[in-house]
Amino acid sequence: MVEVRLDNIVKTFGETVALKGISLHIKDGELFTLLGPSGCGKSTTLRIIAGLDFPDSGKIWFDKEEVTYLSSSERGAVLVFQNYALWPHMSVFDNVAYGLKIKKLPKDEIEKKVKWALELVKLTGFEDRYPTQLSGGQQQRVAIARALVVEPRILLLDEPLSNLDAKLRLEMRSEIRRIQRELGITVLYVTHDQEEAMAISDRVAVMNVGTVEQVGTPREIYENPRTEFVASFMGKTNVIPARVIERDGDKVVVEFEHFKLEGLTYTGDSDRVVIVIRPERISLKPVENGISLTGKVDLIEYYGFFTEVIGLFGETRIIARTMADRETSGLRPQGDVTFYVSRDDIIVLPKQL
Ligand code: ATP
Repeated sequence: MVEVRLDNIVKTFGETVALKGISLHIKDGELFTLLGPSGCGKSTTLRIIAGLDFPDSGKIWFDKEEVTYLSSSERGAVLVFQNYALWPHMSVFDNVAYGLKIKKLPKDEIEKKVKWALELVKLTGFEDRYPTQLSGGQQQRVAIARALVVEPRILLLDEPLSNLDAKLRLEMRSEIRRIQRELGITVLYVTHDQEEAMAISDRVAVMNVGTVEQVGTPREIYENPRTEFVASFMGKTNVIPARVIERDGDKVVVEFEHFKLEGLTYTGDSDRVVIVIRPERISLKPVENGISLTGKVDLIEYYGFFTEVIGLFGETRIIARTMADRETSGLRPQGDVTFYVSRDDIIVLPKQL
């Protein structure tokens, strides 16, 4: 187990600046996720922490030790690759035992440790099978057992669920969480799937073109995105371009189309802003400290346990999500609709994208 600090890490590949000075603090024993779209620098960050690649500048600390230019094994980091990279000609036992054999551990100790690792990933009894005789989920478990058997200080997982079908993804997601909790090991997890990141992580760093835009618990990031990019990346949300037309301290009046929203809170400099409202925070009934918007119903989409009403306010589409069927029963496409939302649930951020 280890606490990891990245201090101003820069990495370039030719003309491409993959990491533009990243600083991060991953706490001892937490499951920390790097989340972001393709090409934002997640894998590069992971490889640099793993010791498989080295930064142009900046430093990496594992606890009080600087490890920037140490190899993976010297720093005690193990990476599980997306495609598991199992050796096809070796049995499950030999795959898992490999790292221990290299360390020249005594035979009985190797057997004890492999048994422990296979128990941990629930693959006891599979020792003699070959990778081709295993399902995708089982192969993944072998890869995790092989990584954990050497007792790394940090386990790094690069999109570990991307080769699995939807049902297995959910199962393995819980398994990874269970194993991490059981061992109390520091895990760095990489994904581009925000739902996966929310479900599994203690904390998440949202990355965008070589920078970290926000670090926080899934709840903090979802409820309180600090940038337009983070807001739009974390789940379905309404991001409405608007303009600040009046200010009084941190209270502002914001305008979009012909709608003026008063009494919102905003502390940024730019008058070009976006209004961020989560669909589930919009009500079809009046709310306390609320604003209201009246427009036309564009679409009503029934999803079973909730319904989405897509309203048109001028040219702007706004999605409301409600679990109360009766609230939508009187609505008709092209008919009038009024959306209500508490000022506490409206976030105003500088326009960025
Ligand atoms: P993905 O989710 O697609 O794996 P990512 O967020 O992990 O993306 P990286 O693989 O870290 O992103 O890549 C960051 C940037 O650096 C991209 O622009 C990528 O093209 C570039 N890059 C990464 N590795 C190399 C390399 N070996 N040579 C050249 N460019 C690279």
